[in-house]
Amino acid sequence: MKNYKALDSYKLLESGWVQTVRHMIPDDTTLTVLRADVTPSFRVNELPHHPWAAVTQRGDVVVAHCDCKAGLGESCSHIGGLLYKVEMIVRVGRDKRSCLH
Ligand SMILES: [Zn+2]
Repeated sequence: MKNYKALDSYKLLESGWVQTVRHMIPDDTTLTVLRADVTPSFRVNELPHHPWAAVTQRGDVVVAHCDCKAGLGESCSHIGGLLYKVEMIVRVGRDKRSCLH
């Protein structure tokens, strides 16, 4: 995951291509699986890609995958966009909590 294209990923998020993030926690693991649909950049007519990532409770990415060509190598901008969005949600959530105190 070190070589994902950070700037491209951020652009995907900024442009609103990253759709709703869903998460699930499988029964037999402490990992959280995060998924989102990502519309291919500049190709609105194409079907969205489906990146997912399994993260630990500390937020470390254990494995990530995407159904686009680059995602087979576990590094594409869709996975990056998903992770950026998760990071943003966590940050916003924290801000909201801190406002209560
Ligand atoms: Zn991808």
